[in-house]
Amino acid sequence: MPVPAQIDPIDELLASFKDDGAVKRRVEASATALAGMDPHRRRQIRARIAEMPLSSRSAYLRAVAKQASPRLAIKAHCMECCGWGRRAVAECTGFACPLWEYRPFQSSADSEGDEDDAEHAD
Ligand code: SF4
Repeated sequence: MPVPAQIDPIDELLASFKDDGAVKRRVEASATALAGMDPHRRRQIRARIAEMPLSSRSAYLRAVAKQASPRLAIKAHCMECCGWGRRAVAECTGFACPLWEYRPFQSSADSEGDEDDAEHAD
């Protein structure tokens, strides 16, 4: 029985955008930056992206490509730290963490208008 071809996690991310909006273009630029990275780091990043939910890939990819704001990079880190759950980040009990005061989703306003989630079809 043939083994199904593995879907590239970045292609899957790009295909998930509803249209060719600004966020998709930024993600495409980050994917291009990834292509120019050291192959060992690139392999690690691709493996990490494949493990995370689609909705978290955009922020992560932009952060590792050095194309994210500090706020977005913190979001990417906190989401990974908490197993990709917004509520877990909001209710994080890592009070001594240096990012605790900066973590996203502390208020309902943080959950709304999130540009990295807004343009996904999912
Ligand atoms: S603030 Fe909480 S969720 Fe964010 S990195 Fe620190 S311990 Fe993890």
